[in-house]
Amino acid sequence: MYQYSSGEKLLQLCHDQGKDIAEIAIIAEVENSGNQKEQIIDWLKDQIQVMGDSIKKGLAQDIKSIGGLIGGNACKLQKRLESGDTFCGAVMLKSISYALAVTEVNAAMGRVVAAPTAGASGIIPGVLIALQEEKAYTDEEILHAFIVSGAIGKIIATNATLSGAEGGCQAECGSASAMAAAAAVYLNGGGPEQCLDAAAMALKGLLGLVCDPVAGLVEVPCSKRNASSVANALACAEMALAGITSFIPFDEVVEAMFKVGNMMSPALRETAGGGCADTATARNYSRMLHERRD
Ligand code: SF4
Repeated sequence: MYQYSSGEKLLQLCHDQGKDIAEIAIIAEVENSGNQKEQIIDWLKDQIQVMGDSIKKGLAQDIKSIGGLIGGNACKLQKRLESGDTFCGAVMLKSISYALAVTEVNAAMGRVVAAPTAGASGIIPGVLIALQEEKAYTDEEILHAFIVSGAIGKIIATNATLSGAEGGCQAECGSASAMAAAAAVYLNGGGPEQCLDAAAMALKGLLGLVCDPVAGLVEVPCSKRNASSVANALACAEMALAGITSFIPFDEVVEAMFKVGNMMSPALRETAGGGCADTATARNYSRMLHERRD
């Protein structure tokens, strides 16, 4: 049996079986679902295709979101990348522009992969597709990295939550950032411990992040929060690959995230009652939106 519900168990399986996280995760999924490995792989390839399509769509046109609060920001960042005048370099700028593109498509009711949620749907595609383009990773390497991200998400879902309504944005963007960080480490040849260290550091970096969508729309601060979560993921991947470890093990960070979520006021858990949603600008916008609808 290749079942795991914690980072510790996942690492133990990797060591005992002499396999990496992607190999363990895919065998576990075959055991769990009863599906053939090929079926699962085909489905995952479809998800990656949708991710790529949503990036292209978000960059191709000035998308306007349902609430009109976001759209066109991914294109602006692409132009800055093309200008060559960037502080962050191509991988970072591409990753965050791709993350914006996906979230803009999502906010316009387009098709995205909820990885792990629609609100945080830009982070994993942003990191994976930008790294593939800039570092020439093969489709198979990207597929395996995507599976690694899924293994991290599965552990968080099992022991905590991926829902902003339950755990705040730390559970959505925080989890996606942790998943993307582990995937990036894997792509660069990092071992299972390094993947989990990167995930732990990424989740720690966003611990306590509240869910505060303006007017209850998944636009502000969600879209730009995806971009900053990408930057967090890449920074933590770099640290892990440099040999920096997380003082708090991944499983304990997940537990802490869940506890913090439970301590959060309901106003900070997707009800649009606090944080950015309770600023003067947000309240004015909400009022205007309601008047327009009446
Ligand atoms: S603020 Fe809330 S709705 Fe927006 S991405 Fe974060 S968890 Fe999702």
